[in-house]
Amino acid sequence: NTDLHPPTTATAPLVDGPALWPAQAHTPSVLGRQLVIERGEGSYIHTTDGRRLFDGTAGLWHANVGHSHPELAQAAYSQMQRLETYHTFARFTNDQAQALGERLASISPIERSKVILNSGGSDAIDVACKLARRHWQREGRPSKQLILSREFAYHGLHAYGTSIAGLEFNREGYGTESLVPETARVPVHDADALERIIHEIGADTIAAIVTEPVQGTGGVNPPAPGYLDKLQRLARENDILIILDEVITGFGRTGTMFAAERYQVDPDIVTFAKGVTSGYAPLGGILISPRLWEPFYRDSPDTPVFRHGSTYGGHATSAAVALAHLDLLEREQLIPRVRELETVLDQQLSALAERNSAVQDVRVAGLLGGVTLNENLSAERVADEIIELGFISRPLRGNTLQISPPFIISNDELIAFVNAIDEAITTEM
Ligand code: PLP
Repeated sequence: NTDLHPPTTATAPLVDGPALWPAQAHTPSVLGRQLVIERGEGSYIHTTDGRRLFDGTAGLWHANVGHSHPELAQAAYSQMQRLETYHTFARFTNDQAQALGERLASISPIERSKVILNSGGSDAIDVACKLARRHWQREGRPSKQLILSREFAYHGLHAYGTSIAGLEFNREGYGTESLVPETARVPVHDADALERIIHEIGADTIAAIVTEPVQGTGGVNPPAPGYLDKLQRLARENDILIILDEVITGFGRTGTMFAAERYQVDPDIVTFAKGVTSGYAPLGGILISPRLWEPFYRDSPDTPVFRHGSTYGGHATSAAVALAHLDLLEREQLIPRVRELETVLDQQLSALAERNSAVQDVRVAGLLGGVTLNENLSAERVADEIIELGFISRPLRGNTLQISPPFIISNDELIAFVNAIDEAITTEM
């Protein structure tokens, strides 16, 4: 716990820099060497100092259709000219949010879904956890409050996301172990350990288990064979809700619209963000199963209210952009294309692991790849070297490099990216 760490040396000189505080950074290490992006163009971005870089991470796993698509810019412009937004509280709503709700329900992996819209993935996690806890309160089982999450999990950094973080550094230093105290973490791939923990803690205290189908920030960890099946069985046997965090995987990243389909999970809540608009407008939300929404939809004076909402929940411009984006995804057949690219990525990474002795492990799921390096190399330094070669990767937990380019890339671009990773590793060896 960083609370126990000594205070920072007050005598160290201040590093001056721009007013904007860089996120998730040891500030003295990044100030003076930040890449300022001013323009995007499909799978490439341009910096203010004149570099053109292949965006091998699609930003923060968001730019699935690539950058600066004119059709999506036009959707935002047209909508803003008509109506920027109108809130969706009580009797009010707006036509774009309504239409997006219908569209998402029609592609949801949950049958007869209802939808709550908000501003991003961290928001989505907060409302998902609140709804899970509210469910058990309303069912007259108020002891079921605890939220289980997995080791190395990343669920954003709002209060719940911080509390359930399986990446411990994201939880440290806020004065208590969690901002929301009723949370606990389970091992990443071990379903038997999950079973033991549920029995130790007591299912009558557990509201939900939150899991990414493929862990992203934790190092690109696809589920171990059988893990999600067993998680699902345990959840059902023990009356524990499943919150599937599809903030990265939703809208095609693993080759199906939702990873729930690929891995045959039947969740109670799905969280989404990023890929719903490919990042063209801030938007996230949850898909909700009938078991959870029906009690709030009964025609009775004592039907409860779900107390949640925000000014931008159902933002009309974000919703209009999402609708145009889903059209584009379908028209360009980008999800089947992810399945083709998966085969190429799989071959390329297997070959890389084979030929480069500094590569410890590689993992692929759809157009998500992780390259884990031997301990004597630093993924952070290799990622810097990759940038020098004109490509972007990113160091993740576990000395791993992130591969998650836009869905629009060619086979040759993917091969060139993997070759650049290979070259950067070899330079650092
Ligand atoms: N959940 C997962 C699995 C994520 O990867 C992220 C962000 O990377 C979030 C939640 C948080 O989303 P946001 O950054 O939009 O708040």
